[in-house]
Amino acid sequence: MIDRNETGLKMYALLAELFPFCRSLTGTGVQETLSVIEKDVPLQYTYVPSGTKCFDWEVPDEWHISSAFIRDTAGVKIVDFSENNLHLMGYSVPVCGWFTIKELTPHIFTLPNKPDTIPYLTSYYKKRWGFCMRHNDFLKMKDEKYYVEINSTLKPGNLILAEVYLPGETDKEILFSCYYCHPSMANDCLSGVVTTAQLYQEISREKRRYSYRFLFIPETIGAISYLNLNQSTIKERVHAGFVVTCCGDPGKFNYKKTRHGNHEIDRLSENILKFSNHPYQIRNFWPGGSDERQYSSPGFNLPMGLLMRSVYTEYPQYHTSDDNLKFVTAQALGETLDLYYKIVLGMEGNRHYHSQNPFCEPQLSKRGLYPSLGVQKDHSDEIRNRMWVLNYSDGNHDLLSIAEKMNTSILDLIQTAQILEGAGLLKNEE
Ligand code: ZN
Repeated sequence: MIDRNETGLKMYALLAELFPFCRSLTGTGVQETLSVIEKDVPLQYTYVPSGTKCFDWEVPDEWHISSAFIRDTAGVKIVDFSENNLHLMGYSVPVCGWFTIKELTPHIFTLPNKPDTIPYLTSYYKKRWGFCMRHNDFLKMKDEKYYVEINSTLKPGNLILAEVYLPGETDKEILFSCYYCHPSMANDCLSGVVTTAQLYQEISREKRRYSYRFLFIPETIGAISYLNLNQSTIKERVHAGFVVTCCGDPGKFNYKKTRHGNHEIDRLSENILKFSNHPYQIRNFWPGGSDERQYSSPGFNLPMGLLMRSVYTEYPQYHTSDDNLKFVTAQALGETLDLYYKIVLGMEGNRHYHSQNPFCEPQLSKRGLYPSLGVQKDHSDEIRNRMWVLNYSDGNHDLLSIAEKMNTSILDLIQTAQILEGAGLLKNEE
């Protein structure tokens, strides 16, 4: 048994280390983030230059920020980016000068309903500037004019797509895609980054039937750039995958289905959740959310699911300073990782077997696979599994469909199939 408490603590520690960096689509915070992940994950980089056309989009300039603040007439900084990354609207253009409160107010964003919370805003494609602040602090601004300074640069540079690939017996890939572009957002964004990094480490140690690819990219434009670069191969390559985000809050699990709706990965995820003892909800695909919007656009239609805790946009902390290190827990991260890992085990073990004795039942007792003195209760489940797997291993049923008929976990049937295969009663002839 793997100790998931320890896994969760390790994931939380990485999340806490990455939390303070000021990430965006591009810039220093991205480079700092990737260099920390690189300690455990051998990332390969693709650089996409600013201005590159990707379908209907264009890669924006690189943004770097060194400082940003608003000072009152007494010289006191009333908002300071160095105190919280969220105080500055992402991709703000440089500004320097005095503004009347009337001129400044359209550049200030608050949450009047949550007066002590800072909103998270970006403006990647329209050149503007803005500060995000606590509404209560905004109400204290009584001066006639304020001094504003934003020391940012927006210049041609590169978007960084980071990936790592683990080859398996087949070229068919399972794709895990997470996004790194949110500054100081613990559940939305970073929980997906640490889950993907941990999954890489665990899957890299296993014998693999499928190949696996793990992407660390900026949301939306990163996925669009990646799909643009891989347009000719990706549909053929990807068997199924996940957009990994919102893995760390203690809310119940939500599985958002792929656009296909009844793909193997949808059925597997539901099977694993059903026998996990965790509360969960299955949600049909909708064309909003994260990078599934790109992967599951009709031209690609890749079967990408999402295993989340609380669903992005629906939890009150979403895109605010309340999505922080207190909102995510080591335990929740460990539990989510465990479910992902079990889905991978299910995917690896879900095969079509052929019974080698299709004419009447094989005699299990002479092979030591059936108790000769009648069935004791503690053996009865396993005997039942053996009978179902033998009967339905006709080449037309994979283990998942047998598990669904039986209303049992595929992980139990994988063990059963291995025993029967070891006794020469089943063959996997794919
Ligand atoms: Zn987000």
